Amino acid sequence: MTHDPHAALSPDTLAVTAGRPARVQGGPVNPPVVLSSTYVSEGVPAPGELLYARGGTETWVPFEEALAALEGGGHGIVFGSGIAAIAATLGDVPDGGAVVVPRHAYQVSLGYLDDMAARHGVEVRRVDVADTEQVVAALDGADLLLAESPTNPMLEVADLPAILAAARERGVRSVVDNTFATPLGQQPLALGADLVVHSVTKYLAGHSDVVLGAVVTNDPELAASVRAYRTLHGAVAGPLEVFLALRGLRTLHLRTERANANAAELARRLAEHPAVAEVRHPSLPSDPGHERATRLMHSYGAVLGLRAHGGVAAADAVVAALRLWVPATSLGGVESTLERRRRFTTESVTVPEDLLRMSVGVEDVEDLWADLDQALSRA
Ligand SMILES: *Cc1c(COP(=O)(O)O)cnc(C)c1O
Repeated sequence: MTHDPHAALSPDTLAVTAGRPARVQGGPVNPPVVLSSTYVSEGVPAPGELLYARGGTETWVPFEEALAALEGGGHGIVFGSGIAAIAATLGDVPDGGAVVVPRHAYQVSLGYLDDMAARHGVEVRRVDVADTEQVVAALDGADLLLAESPTNPMLEVADLPAILAAARERGVRSVVDNTFATPLGQQPLALGADLVVHSVTKYLAGHSDVVLGAVVTNDPELAASVRAYRTLHGAVAGPLEVFLALRGLRTLHLRTERANANAAELARRLAEHPAVAEVRHPSLPSDPGHERATRLMHSYGAVLGLRAHGGVAAADAVVAALRLWVPATSLGGVESTLERRRRFTTESVTVPEDLLRMSVGVEDVEDLWADLDQALSRA
């Protein structure tokens, strides 16, 4: 079930128009924000009636509709964080079940799965998601595939159509974390995924001012069970945050266009910098993910991996010498940020210790470059 009124519109137009109130004389152009924990209700409630804001609020709906339209899905379900959304999609994995996940997935997703392993005997099969044969072999007898492409922070690119088809053939439910690519970079539901999850915190909201998540699916039964999980676990979003996320979503195409272009240009220049040992970005013809990303995605995204000559000390010196780039975790905001991922003891040990993950923002590329160049030259 697609979002019919918008079926013929381009994604850039949908980002601006989806989820608007009905066009009526004197009506608002933007949906109202309703701050109310409870709703007037007497007697036996009708199905779907608003009762209490843990179960549903009208302020969630426009954002959910807009994101669903962008993902080509029938049902959008907003959550209080990306991890809450991911947890909801894992809710049906039985005790003693098996989950396939990229070894370089988002570290808290891996942490959540480790917790499921410890407390519910779930077998976590960590794979190199770029190795299609390895993923397909791991799917045998599994209950769920939680895929990421490109991965965080290694930027490996999966053959999503191939692994999602393999999951479907084996009756394995598939979830794609589309945080890095955004729906403008790829639409996993059209590629065969059962569910898409987002950290809305990142590109969708885009201004580093909210923590939110979302699930999108075309399957009404899955949508109902994910919604029920949200209510039961109280994993709900605040109305003001959802309003900010919808406001951010309106410029998703403009922000990502600039950030993606900046990232590709910086990757190209960094690859030639004498202080640089390795750059990872799928835009680079030499990148292992380049061919696949070119074939399967609409853009290469705006996250870079960087290793300077000189290991951890040089990486930390680069971060310390930067003036414009902000040292901070997270990604997908308008401002450029970076961090050495292995500063977290929980990051996968197969991520190089000196890898800097860089989230390229929408500043002028020459200013970003000048700052990087001076920091690399000093480090
Ligand atoms: C940040 C992130 C998450 C977690 O989302 P939160 O909103 O921080 O809970 C999940 N997946 C990816 C790829 C992320 O980058």
